Order: sequence, then structure tokens, then C-alpha cells
Amino acid sequence: MTVKQNITILGSTGSIGTNTLDVISRHPERFSVYALTASSQVDVMLAQCAQFKPAMAVMAREDAGRALADKVKAEGLPVEVRWGATALDEVASAPGVDAVMAAIVGAAGLSPCLAAARAGKRLLLANKEALVVGGEVFLSAVRDGGATLLPIDSEHSAIFQSLPDDPATWQRRVHKIILTASGGPFRTREPQSLKDVTPEQACAHPNWVMGRKISVDSATMMNKALEVIEARYLFGVLPDQLEVVIHPQSVIHSMVQYRDHSVVAQLGTPDMRGPIAYGLSWPERIESGAAALDFHALAAMTFEAMDARDHAQRFPGLKLAWETLKGAPGSCAVLNAANEVAVDAFLNRQIRFDQIHEVNQGTLDSLVWMAPESLENLMVLDQRSREAALAVVSRLKS
Ligand code: NAD
Ligand code: MG
Repeated sequence: MTVKQNITILGSTGSIGTNTLDVISRHPERFSVYALTASSQVDVMLAQCAQFKPAMAVMAREDAGRALADKVKAEGLPVEVRWGATALDEVASAPGVDAVMAAIVGAAGLSPCLAAARAGKRLLLANKEALVVGGEVFLSAVRDGGATLLPIDSEHSAIFQSLPDDPATWQRRVHKIILTASGGPFRTREPQSLKDVTPEQACAHPNWVMGRKISVDSATMMNKALEVIEARYLFGVLPDQLEVVIHPQSVIHSMVQYRDHSVVAQLGTPDMRGPIAYGLSWPERIESGAAALDFHALAAMTFEAMDARDHAQRFPGLKLAWETLKGAPGSCAVLNAANEVAVDAFLNRQIRFDQIHEVNQGTLDSLVWMAPESLENLMVLDQRSREAALAVVSRLKS
């Protein structure tokens, strides 16, 4: 008999959050919802509260929290409403919680992730920026708290599914980890024309429906850069053991090449409910709602090397993953902050698409930083990097 898991979903109104609730709703006997959290989407949250009856609902913003509290009361729902950063940390670490789905976008999710890690939760990590920023600080919180860190990003879920059960054997058995990348909406576009890309075009991903930030990251391939950094921390390999190959069909979600050059890959349809269900049920398997892969209907699977054609010009940001991993401690956090500022500026039409890379590179070049050893250090570094990135944005605008 399975024991019912009590779950907190950080970022429940987003793309990963709603997919997680979809999987959970298929297994009412296995999962119950302890808390749902979001930034400001009051009406979506209200509907989720009515359907899933969590004990708590937390809005990051106070105005949204107060608005939700009024509506929850008016509807007579048995849900306690809170708001603010402390409340987010508390629902991520509350004693009754078994598992936390970390699906906030950006470094804003770091603090509740660390709270969940220190409290020894089963931590389902979609929020890659939190690990990119947190790095060793994040990993030591997981170790010290006795938490279980499970990847939700489809590539990392695939790698995890392709690795042996015992992490102690990974280092001696693994030769390389190969992350697949779809190449996003601009894989075949002339690099010179990327300056004309609009936010709408950048957010239209060919294979996946996702939040706006990760959609822009997929178009620049900064998403893959963040994923390379994420893989380095999740799987403990060296930066040069990580490789990226473009695979436009997104059928192979990623692969592991062993010392004998044998390759183990994980395949599936591009539906995040697959990796979400695996994280929720690991080491078991449960129905996810994702369609089965139909090999008879599959067209060819194709691959392109990153150094083929003019991909280096098209996706100049990818190499920053290795540069920051090999650079000074804290470099990955600087890169993440710069990229969050740059994507925001692009979505608000303050800079051009091709200038996202200029902001990232310019911020990395302009900062001198210290090795972060705590959440407080990381927050200072994150803030300074954002200020430096905003200065680059202002320069580009003028
Ligand atoms: P999204 O924009 O659809 O949703 C983000 C969620 O976080 C929302 O619920 C929002 O209310 C909340 N949020 C935003 N800013 C916040 C803040 N400052 N404080 C608290 N809450 C805040 O994003 P998404 O596509 O669901 O992505 C979530 C995370 O999962 C990202 O880190 C992304 O890289 C990762 N991820 C997403 C996908 C995908 O298919 N969407 C796949 C792999 C990884
Ligand atoms: Mg991914």
C-alpha cells in the first residue's frame, strides 16, 4: 500500500504548476495538496483552491494575497490565505509536507527551495535558476537537511532515468552526459535577422508550451546553458563531460554515454507530465496523461552538432555555461541574474533579441564578486548583478 504524499506546489498557476495539478488529479488516492503558491494570478489561484482544497494558499504579492483572502472568504472555502516571502518559505518546509514541487520561475524561487532542502523534503526541481544560482550552497542544504532532490526538467529527468540507481557509481561509469536541444523557433533562421525577432515570435516554441521566460531562453538557447549548469550540479560531472546536441524532434529527451561508449537514452512525447509524474512517483511509475510514443508514426530523428552550420553565431550564449562553470565561484549566479534582467527587458521591448547576449556577456565582464557561501551572499550577488545588467540595458537603449 502506498502512503499518501502531502504536497506543496510553488508556482501552481504556471505551466509546470498546472501540469503538476493535472497529474495529481489523476491519483487522488496517492496525493493530497497541502499548499499552493503563486505570484499574482488571483482568479486562477481561486479556481485551484476550489478544486484542490489545499490547507494553505500563498501569494508572493501582498495586494494579490489580500484580494485572494477576500474571495476565498466570500466563497466559504476552507483555505488559509497568506502572502509574502516568509510564508513561501514556511509552506515549503512545514512539518506535514512530504514533497515540494519547485516551479517558480527565476532566482525568486531560491529561498523556498533552500527552506525545503533544509527541512529534508522530497524536492522536485523544475526551477532550474534556483540551482544555477545556489550551486554548492544549494547542494549542501540538500545534504545537511537529508532532502531528496529529483529533477523535473525533461532533460535532467531523462538523464536521471538513464543513470544507474546508485549515485556512488556514476563518476566511474559515466563518460559523458549528452543533453538534447530542440534548437527552438530560430534554429534555421539567418543569424543576421535575429535582431528583428519580436517577443511573440520568441515565445512560440515548436515543440513545448511553456512560460514566457523559459520560452525566450529556449529561443536564445540560454535555457540549454542553464541546463548544462544544472546538470553539472545534479549529477556531479565535470563541465567537459557535458555535451549538447540539437535534436529538433525532441523525442530523445537526453542521454548518458558510458565508459564503454554504450549510450542509454530516454524517449517520450514532449509532454512535461511525463517527468512530473516520474518525480512524483519515483521510484515507482504512475499514469501521467502523456500520450504514448508511436514509433510507426515517428518521422526521422535528426541531429545537428553545435559547431555545425552557423549555430555558434545564432546561439552565442550557450558557451557561457562552460565559461561560468570554469570561472570564478558565483559566476553562474551572475549569468542567471543578467539573463533574467535581459529577458525581461526584451519582453518589455527595451532591447532587441540579439542584445540579450550583450547584456549577459557585458554583466559577466563588468563584475568582480566574492565566493558566495550563504543565501545572504547569493542574494547580494544576485542584486549587484541585476544592477550591473540594468546598466548595460540602459546603455543599449540610449
Ligand atoms: P510560468 O511563468 O508559467 O509560471 C511561473 C510560476 O511562478 C507562476 O505560478 C507564477 O505565479 C510564479 N511566480 C513568478 N514569479 C514569482 C515570484 N517572484 N515569486 C513567487 N512566485 C512567482 O513558468 P513555467 O514555464 O511553469 O516554469 C517554471 C520553472 O520551471 C522555470 O524555472 C522553468 O525554467 C522550469 N521549467 C519549465 C518547463 C516548462 O515546460 N514550462 C520545463 C522545464 C523547466
Ligand atoms: Mg528542459
